[in-house]
Amino acid sequence: MSGAPKYDVLVAGGGVAGLFLAYLTARAGFTVAIVEMKSEEKVGEKVCGDAVGEHHFREVGLEPPRLGLDAVGVFEGVRVYSPSKRYFVTARGKGYALDRKAFGRRLLKIAADAGAELLASHAVVKPIVEGEWVKGLRVRGPEGLKDLYSRVVVDATGAAAAVRTRLPSQWWVAYRAPLEDFNAAYRVIAEVEEEQDPRYALIYLDAETAPGGYWWWFPKGRDVVNGGLGVKAG
Ligand SMILES: Cc1cc2nc3c(=O)[nH]c(=O)nc-3n(C[C@H](O)[C@H](O)[C@H](O)COP(=O)(O)OP(=O)(O)OC[C@H]3O[C@@H](n4cnc5c(N)ncnc54)[C@H](O)[C@@H]3O)c2cc1C
Repeated sequence: MSGAPKYDVLVAGGGVAGLFLAYLTARAGFTVAIVEMKSEEKVGEKVCGDAVGEHHFREVGLEPPRLGLDAVGVFEGVRVYSPSKRYFVTARGKGYALDRKAFGRRLLKIAADAGAELLASHAVVKPIVEGEWVKGLRVRGPEGLKDLYSRVVVDATGAAAAVRTRLPSQWWVAYRAPLEDFNAAYRVIAEVEEEQDPRYALIYLDAETAPGGYWWWFPKGRDVVNGGLGVKAG
């Protein structure tokens, strides 16, 4: 038997999608809580290339990153190299090298300022399903298990799909994506001796180094680089 819904919207996952959705729904007047397994001080952290095009911010109506606040560099475009590295195309357009944590914290702040509640250090255990309805989430927090009821549950746990994949298996939406649909990635942020051209984010379609994916070299200013690669997982 379900409890009375405490929230209009329960957002599972406090990454970029969950935080922004929490902001939008709280701003629209709904009662919202974000269930995030990370501790409060780690919300906003993400292993990522930290590069993003400005047009995305215009599209969703969010103020673009600002140098010194949540951006450490401004790109003029992305340069994509052929497998031989002899050729490249440049996709021009403004973008940012993010201070990823500061960007995540900005999203958390606007969500909290709009009234969303953050339940940090709370992991989704499973959705609460009654008949054909999702009524809330069972979560594990510092005080143990508890059931949270809401009118709407959103799975914003990214690749983990922590809610969706625990729905009844006969619901099509519960499918588990096959391994070959995933990339395995490695990322490092390092100081480098050679001076970088901070205007371009570089992508290498190099089938030897990164089979089924690519490797990237995204300068963050003149002497720091975010580099990494993603390869086909399956
Ligand atoms: C190595 C790498 C490099 C990338 N580089 C770029 C780039 O340069 N530019 C770009 O635009 N994109 C990049 N991306 C993609 C980008 O990071 C993702 O698209 C984006 O972070 C997805 O956001 P999200 O909110 O959907 O998921 P996530 O950021 O993954 O957030 C999901 C949240 O859910 C939480 N969570 C998971 N399971 C549970 C659970 N059971 N209970 C509670 N909380 C849970 C996690 O802790 C996390 O905070 C990169 C990704 C990777 C991995």
